[in-house]
Amino acid sequence: MRKIIAVAETAFRRVFGDLRVSEVRDLIFLRDQSPLVQRRRAVLVISRIRMVAAVFAILTPLWIPVDILVFDKALGLSLAALRVLATLAFAGIALSFRASEDMWAARRALVLLLAVPTCFFLISHPLLAQFDIDDPLQQVIAAGYAFLPFVMVAGLSVFPITMLEGALLATPLWLANLLIAGTGYQLLTFASHLGALWLLALLAVVATLAGMSQLHFMMQLVTQASHDGLTRAYTRRTGEELLDLQFAQARRTDTPLAVAFIDLDHFKAINDCYGHEEGDNSLREAAAALRRIQRRGDILIRWGGEEFLLVLPNTDLGGARIAVDRLCAAGLGKRPDGKRQTASIGIAERLADGCREWDSLVEKADHRMYVAKQSGRDRVVAKDEMAAPVA
Ligand code: GH3
Ligand code: MG
Ligand code: MG
Repeated sequence: MRKIIAVAETAFRRVFGDLRVSEVRDLIFLRDQSPLVQRRRAVLVISRIRMVAAVFAILTPLWIPVDILVFDKALGLSLAALRVLATLAFAGIALSFRASEDMWAARRALVLLLAVPTCFFLISHPLLAQFDIDDPLQQVIAAGYAFLPFVMVAGLSVFPITMLEGALLATPLWLANLLIAGTGYQLLTFASHLGALWLLALLAVVATLAGMSQLHFMMQLVTQASHDGLTRAYTRRTGEELLDLQFAQARRTDTPLAVAFIDLDHFKAINDCYGHEEGDNSLREAAAALRRIQRRGDILIRWGGEEFLLVLPNTDLGGARIAVDRLCAAGLGKRPDGKRQTASIGIAERLADGCREWDSLVEKADHRMYVAKQSGRDRVVAKDEMAAPVA
């Protein structure tokens, strides 16, 4: 399996040269550590499903008069009944799915959307095969039914999907075609069916690639919009969303969640004495220093101008203190005059401080940062008592 993944990664890097390995993996599987992408993707997929289902709910019954005019009465009416059922199913999907940020809800909707034409195909095909279709016009219209799986597989390209999802969604359509090819009910010859299966597989690959490139584009947009351009930390708006998610998860799993509120000391003086450009450089340096002590899974947010919030999931007060002490030891970069950049830091933890909401947790850390400022700056406060200097 690993070997296959490695080969797939190499092939993809050849195609998308600018992709990193982690991004390629995300395009194949989309692991759960991109909650922002998953949420935006779910919203987008569901809105497109509703749009596609609404279009099909309108188009499907429009063909009823053609079937009735062209085919025998019994066949025409049976197909009409099938179309009415399909229309109801499409309308149900278009109306019942509400906007959701849950990717599993989006996947369920996608499966349902594809299930309707797959069932339609599996029923209509044997139905058509029971009648003699000799008239050329009848043959043309009947051939349209044989092409339904192609339309559905091509339709996958409108959704931002991973390679795995594309493969899993296209497989039932492909198997439905195989099943029909294996039965005696054939509108096409057996050889044509084999050709159709091959073409269907190729189309599934192309549609999945189109879906993956949409996903890649979406991932880039989400990353760009959720990060601050100067420091590359998360923006406050995105940070609050992530904090909300992390807090809910910590509550659900009854695990600790710590935050460190970091405010750079005497930062205004850098701007006043050396100009904004130097101030920006110092900010960048401080953010880089913060990123260096970050563990995988920690979240760095630019909370305000020269204020950062470091979110430490699954970390208790002691663990947070160790991380912050590591930061203080490594420093937050140099000021333009060569002196070390210091910060006043307040730490709070969900369980130890009994916070029921994420905003009260941040408020607590903010308050402790303020206490650290009041007691002389360049220090860490983790409890509601007098601050102790760092060194
Ligand atoms: P204190 O030790 O009390 O925190 O003092 P301070 O000067 O850091 O605090 P204050 O809140 O008075 O000033 C923050 C300054 O940060 C004000 C603003 O000029 C500067 N600042 C905020 N955002 C940016 C930015 O993006 N670039 C630059 N260069 N400066 C910024
Ligand atoms: Mg400040
Ligand atoms: Mg400051």
